[in-house]
Amino acid sequence: MTLRDTAGPLADQHGRVATGLRVSLTDRCNLRCEYCMPAEGLDWLPTEEALTDDELIRLITIAVEILGIRDVRFTGGEPLLRRSLPAIVAATKALPSKPRTAMTSNGLGLKQMAKALAEAGLDRVNISLDTVDPEVFKRITRRDRLADVITGLEAARAAGLQPVKVNAVLLRDINHKGAPELLRWCMDNRYELRFIEQMPLDAQHGWNRTAMVTADETLTLLGEHFRLTPMDGRGLAPAEKFLVDDGPHTVGIVGSVTRPFCGDCNRVRLTADGQIRNCLFAREESDLRTAMRGGASDTELAERWRKAMWVKLPGHGINDPEFLQPTRPMSAIGG
Ligand code: SAM
Repeated sequence: MTLRDTAGPLADQHGRVATGLRVSLTDRCNLRCEYCMPAEGLDWLPTEEALTDDELIRLITIAVEILGIRDVRFTGGEPLLRRSLPAIVAATKALPSKPRTAMTSNGLGLKQMAKALAEAGLDRVNISLDTVDPEVFKRITRRDRLADVITGLEAARAAGLQPVKVNAVLLRDINHKGAPELLRWCMDNRYELRFIEQMPLDAQHGWNRTAMVTADETLTLLGEHFRLTPMDGRGLAPAEKFLVDDGPHTVGIVGSVTRPFCGDCNRVRLTADGQIRNCLFAREESDLRTAMRGGASDTELAERWRKAMWVKLPGHGINDPEFLQPTRPMSAIGG
Protein backbone atom coordinates (compact mmCIF):
# COMPACT_ATOMS: atom_id res chain seq x y z
CA MET A 1 0.00 0.00 0.00
CA THR A 2 1.14 3.49 -0.69
CA LEU A 3 -0.28 6.88 0.14
CA ARG A 4 -2.09 6.91 -3.20
CA ASP A 5 -4.63 4.34 -2.19
CA THR A 6 -5.65 6.15 0.96
CA ALA A 7 -5.88 9.73 -0.30
CA GLY A 8 -6.91 11.66 -3.38
CA PRO A 9 -9.00 10.56 -6.35
CA LEU A 10 -9.93 7.08 -7.55
CA ALA A 11 -6.56 6.05 -8.92
CA ASP A 12 -5.34 2.55 -9.73
CA GLN A 13 -1.89 1.01 -9.88
CA HIS A 14 -1.80 1.28 -13.66
CA GLY A 15 -2.02 5.05 -13.84
CA ARG A 16 -5.74 5.38 -14.53
CA VAL A 17 -8.05 7.66 -12.57
CA ALA A 18 -11.79 7.02 -12.48
CA THR A 19 -13.90 10.11 -13.13
CA GLY A 20 -17.03 8.40 -14.48
CA LEU A 21 -19.49 6.64 -12.18
CA ARG A 22 -22.19 4.26 -13.40
CA VAL A 23 -24.92 3.87 -10.83
CA SER A 24 -27.34 0.98 -11.13
CA LEU A 25 -30.71 2.03 -9.73
CA THR A 26 -32.34 -1.39 -9.88
CA ASP A 27 -31.55 -4.86 -11.18
CA ARG A 28 -35.10 -5.22 -12.58
CA CYS A 29 -36.00 -4.73 -16.19
CA ASN A 30 -39.21 -4.74 -18.24
CA LEU A 31 -37.54 -6.26 -21.31
CA ARG A 32 -35.88 -9.66 -21.57
CA CYS A 33 -33.21 -9.08 -24.21
CA GLU A 34 -31.91 -12.52 -25.03
CA TYR A 35 -28.25 -11.49 -24.77
CA CYS A 36 -28.87 -10.14 -21.27
CA MET A 37 -31.57 -12.02 -19.35
CA PRO A 38 -33.46 -15.31 -19.54
CA ALA A 39 -37.16 -15.18 -20.51
CA GLU A 40 -38.29 -15.81 -16.94
CA GLY A 41 -36.19 -12.96 -15.51
CA LEU A 42 -33.82 -13.40 -12.58
CA ASP A 43 -33.99 -13.60 -8.79
CA TRP A 44 -34.31 -9.88 -8.08
CA LEU A 45 -32.51 -8.25 -5.18
CA PRO A 46 -34.50 -8.38 -1.95
CA THR A 47 -35.76 -4.89 -1.03
CA GLU A 48 -33.70 -4.70 2.15
CA GLU A 49 -30.49 -5.27 0.20
CA ALA A 50 -31.14 -2.44 -2.26
CA LEU A 51 -29.85 1.00 -1.35
CA THR A 52 -32.48 3.49 -0.27
CA ASP A 53 -32.58 6.84 -2.06
CA ASP A 54 -30.80 8.51 0.86
CA GLU A 55 -28.05 5.86 0.87
CA LEU A 56 -27.65 6.12 -2.86
CA ILE A 57 -27.41 9.89 -2.79
CA ARG A 58 -24.92 9.74 0.05
CA LEU A 59 -22.61 7.48 -1.95
CA ILE A 60 -22.98 9.61 -5.09
CA THR A 61 -22.11 12.67 -2.99
CA ILE A 62 -18.97 10.99 -1.66
CA ALA A 63 -18.00 10.01 -5.19
CA VAL A 64 -18.47 13.50 -6.59
CA GLU A 65 -17.41 15.73 -3.73
CA ILE A 66 -14.57 13.65 -2.22
CA LEU A 67 -13.40 11.29 -4.94
CA GLY A 68 -13.45 13.52 -8.01
CA ILE A 69 -16.20 11.87 -10.07
CA ARG A 70 -17.33 14.27 -12.80
CA ASP A 71 -19.79 12.16 -14.80
CA VAL A 72 -22.64 10.20 -13.26
CA ARG A 73 -24.61 7.82 -15.46
CA PHE A 74 -27.78 6.17 -14.16
CA THR A 75 -28.43 2.67 -15.43
CA GLY A 76 -29.75 -0.71 -14.34
CA GLY A 77 -31.67 -3.03 -14.87
CA GLU A 78 -34.00 -0.37 -16.16
CA PRO A 79 -33.44 2.95 -14.36
CA LEU A 80 -36.89 4.30 -15.34
CA LEU A 81 -38.40 1.62 -13.11
CA ARG A 82 -37.12 3.54 -10.08
CA ARG A 83 -39.91 6.01 -9.38
CA SER A 84 -37.63 8.39 -7.50
CA LEU A 85 -35.30 8.75 -10.50
CA PRO A 86 -36.04 12.48 -11.05
CA ALA A 87 -35.35 13.20 -7.37
CA ILE A 88 -32.08 11.24 -7.50
CA VAL A 89 -31.03 13.14 -10.63
CA ALA A 90 -31.95 16.47 -9.03
CA ALA A 91 -29.97 15.66 -5.87
CA THR A 92 -26.96 14.70 -7.99
CA LYS A 93 -27.15 17.84 -10.09
CA ALA A 94 -27.52 19.99 -6.97
CA LEU A 95 -24.10 18.91 -5.69
CA PRO A 96 -21.64 21.81 -5.50
CA SER A 97 -19.37 20.25 -8.15
CA LYS A 98 -22.31 19.93 -10.59
CA PRO A 99 -21.40 16.63 -12.27
CA ARG A 100 -22.58 15.86 -15.79
CA THR A 101 -25.49 13.41 -15.69
CA ALA A 102 -26.66 10.81 -18.18
CA MET A 103 -28.86 7.75 -18.29
CA THR A 104 -28.79 4.47 -20.19
CA SER A 105 -32.34 3.20 -20.63
CA ASN A 106 -34.55 1.07 -22.85
CA GLY A 107 -36.84 4.10 -23.24
CA LEU A 108 -40.03 2.41 -22.01
CA GLY A 109 -41.96 5.00 -20.02
CA LEU A 110 -39.63 7.81 -21.05
CA LYS A 111 -42.57 9.53 -22.71
CA GLN A 112 -44.01 10.21 -19.26
CA MET A 113 -40.70 11.03 -17.57
CA ALA A 114 -38.48 12.80 -20.11
CA LYS A 115 -39.59 16.33 -19.24
CA ALA A 116 -39.29 15.76 -15.48
CA LEU A 117 -35.82 14.29 -15.98
CA ALA A 118 -34.67 17.22 -18.10
CA GLU A 119 -36.03 19.63 -15.49
CA ALA A 120 -34.24 17.67 -12.77
CA GLY A 121 -30.98 18.29 -14.61
CA LEU A 122 -30.41 15.14 -16.64
CA ASP A 123 -28.07 16.11 -19.47
CA ARG A 124 -28.24 13.20 -21.92
CA VAL A 125 -29.64 9.75 -22.60
CA ASN A 126 -28.55 6.59 -24.38
CA ILE A 127 -31.49 4.49 -25.46
CA SER A 128 -30.98 0.85 -26.32
CA LEU A 129 -32.52 -0.21 -29.62
CA ASP A 130 -31.20 -3.12 -31.65
CA THR A 131 -33.62 -3.04 -34.58
CA VAL A 132 -36.49 -1.05 -36.08
CA ASP A 133 -38.23 -4.20 -37.30
CA PRO A 134 -41.13 -4.91 -34.88
CA GLU A 135 -40.88 -8.71 -35.30
CA VAL A 136 -37.13 -8.76 -34.76
CA PHE A 137 -37.54 -6.43 -31.76
CA LYS A 138 -40.06 -8.85 -30.27
CA ARG A 139 -37.76 -11.77 -30.91
CA ILE A 140 -34.77 -10.13 -29.22
CA THR A 141 -36.50 -8.46 -26.26
CA ARG A 142 -39.33 -11.00 -25.88
CA ARG A 143 -41.73 -8.05 -25.64
CA ASP A 144 -43.85 -6.34 -28.33
CA ARG A 145 -42.79 -2.80 -27.35
CA LEU A 146 -40.92 -1.28 -30.31
CA ALA A 147 -43.50 1.52 -30.71
CA ASP A 148 -43.06 2.50 -27.03
CA VAL A 149 -39.27 2.70 -27.38
CA ILE A 150 -39.67 4.94 -30.43
CA THR A 151 -42.09 7.15 -28.49
CA GLY A 152 -39.55 7.32 -25.67
CA LEU A 153 -36.81 8.37 -28.08
CA GLU A 154 -39.01 11.14 -29.48
CA ALA A 155 -39.83 12.33 -25.97
CA ALA A 156 -36.13 12.48 -25.08
CA ARG A 157 -35.41 14.61 -28.13
CA ALA A 158 -38.39 16.88 -27.46
CA ALA A 159 -37.26 17.36 -23.85
CA GLY A 160 -33.83 18.50 -25.04
CA LEU A 161 -31.88 15.51 -23.72
CA GLN A 162 -29.44 15.95 -26.60
CA PRO A 163 -27.62 14.36 -28.24
CA VAL A 164 -29.90 11.34 -28.04
CA LYS A 165 -27.70 8.31 -28.53
CA VAL A 166 -28.89 4.86 -29.52
CA ASN A 167 -27.04 1.74 -28.35
CA ALA A 168 -27.36 -1.38 -30.47
CA VAL A 169 -26.04 -4.91 -30.04
CA LEU A 170 -25.87 -7.06 -33.17
CA LEU A 171 -26.73 -10.73 -32.97
CA ARG A 172 -25.77 -12.99 -35.82
CA ASP A 173 -28.63 -13.97 -38.13
CA ILE A 174 -31.13 -12.17 -35.90
CA ASN A 175 -30.55 -8.46 -36.46
CA HIS A 176 -27.02 -8.14 -37.83
CA LYS A 177 -28.03 -7.71 -41.44
CA GLY A 178 -30.33 -4.87 -40.33
CA ALA A 179 -27.40 -2.73 -39.18
CA PRO A 180 -27.46 -0.42 -42.25
CA GLU A 181 -31.24 0.03 -41.96
CA LEU A 182 -30.89 0.94 -38.28
CA LEU A 183 -28.19 3.48 -39.10
CA ARG A 184 -30.33 5.02 -41.85
CA TRP A 185 -33.31 5.24 -39.45
CA CYS A 186 -31.19 6.86 -36.73
CA MET A 187 -29.78 9.41 -39.18
CA ASP A 188 -33.25 10.23 -40.50
CA ASN A 189 -34.41 10.81 -36.93
CA ARG A 190 -31.26 12.62 -35.73
CA TYR A 191 -30.18 9.99 -33.21
CA GLU A 192 -26.52 9.13 -32.80
CA LEU A 193 -26.06 5.37 -33.22
CA ARG A 194 -23.37 3.24 -31.58
CA PHE A 195 -22.91 -0.48 -32.12
CA ILE A 196 -21.63 -2.35 -29.07
CA GLU A 197 -20.00 -5.75 -29.42
CA GLN A 198 -21.84 -8.43 -27.53
CA MET A 199 -19.98 -9.27 -24.32
CA PRO A 200 -19.99 -12.38 -22.10
CA LEU A 201 -22.28 -10.87 -19.49
CA ASP A 202 -25.57 -12.67 -20.03
CA ALA A 203 -27.13 -14.51 -17.11
CA GLN A 204 -27.52 -17.66 -19.22
CA HIS A 205 -23.81 -17.77 -20.20
CA GLY A 206 -24.81 -18.14 -23.83
CA TRP A 207 -22.12 -15.85 -25.27
CA ASN A 208 -20.09 -17.48 -27.98
CA ARG A 209 -16.96 -15.84 -29.35
CA THR A 210 -17.21 -17.44 -32.76
CA ALA A 211 -20.81 -16.27 -33.24
CA MET A 212 -20.39 -12.69 -32.03
CA VAL A 213 -20.53 -9.92 -34.61
CA THR A 214 -17.22 -8.12 -34.39
CA ALA A 215 -16.46 -4.42 -34.83
CA ASP A 216 -14.68 -5.27 -38.12
CA GLU A 217 -17.68 -7.12 -39.43
CA THR A 218 -20.05 -4.31 -38.43
CA LEU A 219 -17.87 -1.82 -40.29
CA THR A 220 -17.90 -4.07 -43.36
CA LEU A 221 -21.69 -4.39 -43.22
CA LEU A 222 -22.12 -0.63 -42.93
CA GLY A 223 -19.42 0.04 -45.50
CA GLU A 224 -21.51 -1.68 -48.17
CA HIS A 225 -24.06 1.14 -47.86
CA PHE A 226 -22.23 4.15 -46.45
CA ARG A 227 -18.86 5.85 -46.78
CA LEU A 228 -17.31 5.76 -43.30
CA THR A 229 -14.43 8.05 -42.42
CA PRO A 230 -12.64 7.55 -39.08
CA MET A 231 -12.77 10.64 -36.87
CA ASP A 232 -10.03 11.85 -34.53
CA GLY A 233 -10.42 12.84 -30.92
CA ARG A 234 -11.86 9.72 -29.33
CA GLY A 235 -10.44 10.76 -25.95
CA LEU A 236 -11.55 8.40 -23.21
CA ALA A 237 -14.79 7.50 -25.00
CA PRO A 238 -15.30 3.77 -25.63
CA ALA A 239 -16.73 4.36 -29.11
CA GLU A 240 -14.57 4.81 -32.20
CA LYS A 241 -16.45 7.36 -34.24
CA PHE A 242 -16.91 7.49 -38.00
CA LEU A 243 -18.31 10.25 -40.17
CA VAL A 244 -21.09 8.82 -42.38
CA ASP A 245 -21.13 9.90 -46.04
CA ASP A 246 -19.00 12.95 -45.20
CA GLY A 247 -21.29 14.04 -42.37
CA PRO A 248 -22.86 15.57 -40.49
CA HIS A 249 -24.03 12.21 -39.14
CA THR A 250 -21.69 9.89 -37.28
CA VAL A 251 -21.74 6.30 -36.13
CA GLY A 252 -19.84 4.80 -33.18
CA ILE A 253 -18.36 1.34 -32.81
CA VAL A 254 -17.64 0.02 -29.32
CA GLY A 255 -15.33 -2.95 -29.82
CA SER A 256 -15.29 -4.01 -26.19
CA VAL A 257 -14.10 -7.52 -27.04
CA THR A 258 -11.97 -7.24 -30.17
CA ARG A 259 -10.73 -3.66 -29.69
CA PRO A 260 -10.55 -3.32 -25.90
CA PHE A 261 -9.96 0.14 -24.45
CA CYS A 262 -9.13 -0.87 -20.87
CA GLY A 263 -5.96 1.25 -20.86
CA ASP A 264 -8.15 4.35 -21.13
CA CYS A 265 -10.92 3.18 -18.81
CA ASN A 266 -12.04 5.89 -16.42
CA ARG A 267 -15.09 4.15 -14.99
CA VAL A 268 -16.26 2.70 -11.75
CA ARG A 269 -19.60 1.09 -10.99
CA LEU A 270 -21.94 1.17 -8.01
CA THR A 271 -24.53 -1.61 -7.96
CA ALA A 272 -28.11 -1.15 -6.71
CA ASP A 273 -27.13 -3.03 -3.54
CA GLY A 274 -24.16 -0.81 -2.75
CA GLN A 275 -21.22 -2.79 -4.12
CA ILE A 276 -18.32 -1.12 -5.86
CA ARG A 277 -17.09 -2.82 -9.01
CA ASN A 278 -13.88 -1.47 -10.47
CA CYS A 279 -14.55 -3.20 -13.82
CA LEU A 280 -17.58 -4.62 -15.61
CA PHE A 281 -15.73 -7.94 -15.59
CA ALA A 282 -14.39 -7.78 -12.02
CA ARG A 283 -14.62 -11.02 -10.05
CA GLU A 284 -14.71 -9.14 -6.77
CA GLU A 285 -16.79 -6.33 -5.33
CA SER A 286 -16.32 -4.04 -2.38
CA ASP A 287 -19.30 -3.82 -0.05
CA LEU A 288 -20.05 -0.21 0.86
CA ARG A 289 -23.62 -0.92 1.94
CA THR A 290 -22.68 -3.02 4.96
CA ALA A 291 -20.00 -0.53 5.96
CA MET A 292 -22.43 2.37 5.58
CA ARG A 293 -25.17 0.64 7.54
CA GLY A 294 -22.59 -0.26 10.18
CA GLY A 295 -21.91 3.45 10.78
CA ALA A 296 -18.88 4.16 8.57
CA SER A 297 -18.12 7.86 8.10
CA ASP A 298 -17.91 9.52 4.67
CA THR A 299 -14.12 9.52 4.98
CA GLU A 300 -14.07 5.81 5.75
CA LEU A 301 -16.38 5.01 2.85
CA ALA A 302 -14.24 7.11 0.51
CA GLU A 303 -11.17 5.24 1.68
CA ARG A 304 -12.80 1.86 1.04
CA TRP A 305 -13.78 3.08 -2.41
CA ARG A 306 -10.21 4.17 -3.19
CA LYS A 307 -8.88 0.80 -2.06
CA ALA A 308 -11.36 -0.98 -4.31
CA MET A 309 -10.13 1.04 -7.27
CA TRP A 310 -6.44 0.72 -6.52
CA VAL A 311 -6.54 -3.02 -7.31
CA LYS A 312 -8.33 -2.66 -10.67
CA LEU A 313 -6.74 -5.07 -13.14
CA PRO A 314 -5.05 -3.69 -16.26
CA GLY A 315 -7.57 -5.36 -18.60
CA HIS A 316 -10.90 -7.17 -18.64
CA GLY A 317 -9.24 -10.44 -19.65
CA ILE A 318 -12.01 -11.59 -22.05
CA ASN A 319 -9.33 -12.59 -24.50
CA ASP A 320 -7.34 -14.65 -21.97
CA PRO A 321 -7.76 -18.45 -22.22
CA GLU A 322 -8.55 -18.61 -18.49
CA PHE A 323 -11.22 -15.87 -18.64
CA LEU A 324 -14.10 -16.43 -16.25
CA GLN A 325 -17.38 -14.60 -16.73
CA PRO A 326 -18.41 -12.54 -13.68
CA THR A 327 -21.00 -14.16 -11.42
CA ARG A 328 -23.40 -11.23 -11.77
CA PRO A 329 -24.94 -10.56 -15.18
CA MET A 330 -24.91 -7.14 -16.87
CA SER A 331 -28.41 -6.28 -15.63
CA ALA A 332 -27.36 -6.71 -12.00
CA ILE A 333 -24.03 -4.94 -12.39
CA GLY A 334 -25.40 -1.93 -14.24
CA GLY A 335 -24.67 -1.78 -17.96
N1 SAM B 1 -32.16 -1.25 -19.34
C1 SAM B 1 -31.24 -0.24 -19.80
C2 SAM B 1 -31.03 -0.34 -21.28
O1 SAM B 1 -31.66 -1.20 -21.91
O2 SAM B 1 -30.27 0.43 -21.81
C3 SAM B 1 -29.93 -0.17 -19.05
C4 SAM B 1 -29.25 -1.45 -18.71
S1 SAM B 1 -28.67 -2.40 -20.08
C5 SAM B 1 -27.86 -3.72 -19.24
C6 SAM B 1 -27.38 -1.33 -20.67
C7 SAM B 1 -26.83 -1.67 -22.02
O3 SAM B 1 -26.16 -2.89 -21.93
C8 SAM B 1 -27.86 -1.80 -23.12
O4 SAM B 1 -27.48 -0.95 -24.19
C9 SAM B 1 -27.75 -3.24 -23.53
O5 SAM B 1 -27.98 -3.43 -24.89
C10 SAM B 1 -26.33 -3.56 -23.15
N2 SAM B 1 -26.06 -4.98 -22.94
C11 SAM B 1 -26.73 -5.85 -22.17
N3 SAM B 1 -26.16 -7.07 -22.23
C12 SAM B 1 -25.10 -6.95 -23.07
C13 SAM B 1 -24.10 -7.85 -23.54
N4 SAM B 1 -24.09 -9.13 -23.18
N5 SAM B 1 -23.16 -7.37 -24.38
C14 SAM B 1 -23.17 -6.07 -24.76
N6 SAM B 1 -24.08 -5.17 -24.34
C15 SAM B 1 -25.03 -5.60 -23.51
